Amino acid sequence: MQKITIVGSGLVGSLLSIYLAKRGHQVNVYERRADLRMNRISAGRSINLALSDRGWRGLAAIGIEHEIRKVAIPMNGRMMHSLDGKLTYQAYGKSGQAINSVSRGGLNCVLMDIAEQHGVKIHFQQRCTGIDLKTATAYFEDDASIKSEVQSDRIFATDGAFSAGRLQMQLSTDQFQYSQSYLEHGYKELTIPPTKDGEYAMDPNALHIWPRSAYMMIALPNLDKSFTCTLFFPHKGEPSFESLNTKEKTMTFFNTMFADAVPMMPTLKEDYANNPSSSLVTVRCFPWRFSDKVLLLGDAAHAIVPFYGQGMNCGFEDCVVLSELMDLHGENWEIIFSECERLRKPDADAIAELALTNFIEMRDKVGQESFLLQKQIEAWFSEKHPDKWTPLYTMVSYSPQIRYSEALREGKKQEGIMQQIMLMPDIKDQWNSSAVENRILELLQ
Ligand SMILES: Cc1cc2nc3c(=O)[nH]c(=O)nc-3n(C[C@H](O)[C@H](O)[C@H](O)COP(=O)(O)OP(=O)(O)OC[C@H]3O[C@@H](n4cnc5c(N)ncnc54)[C@H](O)[C@@H]3O)c2cc1C
Repeated sequence: MQKITIVGSGLVGSLLSIYLAKRGHQVNVYERRADLRMNRISAGRSINLALSDRGWRGLAAIGIEHEIRKVAIPMNGRMMHSLDGKLTYQAYGKSGQAINSVSRGGLNCVLMDIAEQHGVKIHFQQRCTGIDLKTATAYFEDDASIKSEVQSDRIFATDGAFSAGRLQMQLSTDQFQYSQSYLEHGYKELTIPPTKDGEYAMDPNALHIWPRSAYMMIALPNLDKSFTCTLFFPHKGEPSFESLNTKEKTMTFFNTMFADAVPMMPTLKEDYANNPSSSLVTVRCFPWRFSDKVLLLGDAAHAIVPFYGQGMNCGFEDCVVLSELMDLHGENWEIIFSECERLRKPDADAIAELALTNFIEMRDKVGQESFLLQKQIEAWFSEKHPDKWTPLYTMVSYSPQIRYSEALREGKKQEGIMQQIMLMPDIKDQWNSSAVENRILELLQ
């Protein structure tokens, strides 16, 4: 039995604690915030996330997939809202394939409950201030500035994008690779409440997108029949969070750019003024471990922008891979940690790249006819030749057996082929002809 310290009881730290406790280790988790579960209702109302098959695999391994499915809302496709309010639907995959909207706070509460049922001890309001990497000693400070230190066999730092564990590795080790890059866009959460009749104001089984080229708004359904909207918008320039600085300007802008959404957003003015605008960062670093003592996982190792809906899914997949390595290598933590970073780093880099590219797809391309046609051709060809073509979205979201790095490679190849197909004469009319089919087959050779 190992004495294990986990820093951060977010989504990944909580799930990881269950994996480790189930193996009989003594697990203590230290979390900076107060216990979310003290106010379950507001935790349940916090932002929602898209959970897809990699995430489900992480939950299934500890037997809670079914419990979470009960509170997940399947979204089978994207619903695009054009400037004039026209709706266009595009399925995310084959019939039955869906990503799922889950409450981030609600899921975190369930994971912490299960962790405690397995004997994990979670210590709240304990901020990690540093780590002695060689001795695996973590230092904490509580809300009253009372300091403590905990020595253990291993430390897992799952303390998110601004990880104290990662900072310690950056400060105390030689040649630690680190980069953080911020998008020029940030995000703000807004809301669409249930209608007067207590119903969803829009189709709840779709992820709604208002693509507006340089920016976009999306909406995901909640169990209480509301939607959480997220406006992804430039921090500066025209228009931007900086330039929309009065209620009048905000309303004029929304009435012009998101006219069909405004009647569904009775508290828009207040929400826009009161809710913070936050930044979006990609963090890359290496190594992820210090000898066999400390390992970074989840956003602490690889924070990505949210446009593929994969940050949490990727973090859950980290736990699955780690668990498989523990099966293979028993108590050889040196190998477990080194294999974990070796296997996961290329996949984390790949999903970081895919997430950045998908922002352009979501905010711009999904509003273009040619893009929708391209996706239609890919879906049609894949239906005819499932052994030869799996669409990129399907590889990333529904195919946990395909690594992110493989999906990225294959996706680039497919994009090259499709660029040629889209140049074929009369492609709009002959998109599902044998000429197109044969040309794709030829290009695949
Ligand atoms: C707008 C937005 C939308 C997103 N949408 C999706 C989506 O649809 N699908 C998806 O898969 N992912 C999505 N993500 C990403 C997802 O939220 C993250 O990848 C996921 O939360 C990472 O989990 P984590 O446990 O690694 O980090 P976090 O969830 O950030 O948890 C880290 C925990 O560590 C604690 N902590 C931090 N510092 C310390 C410290 N010094 N000491 C002790 N504790 C500390 C924090 O309080 C927190 O509880 C989205 C992210 C954003 C910003």
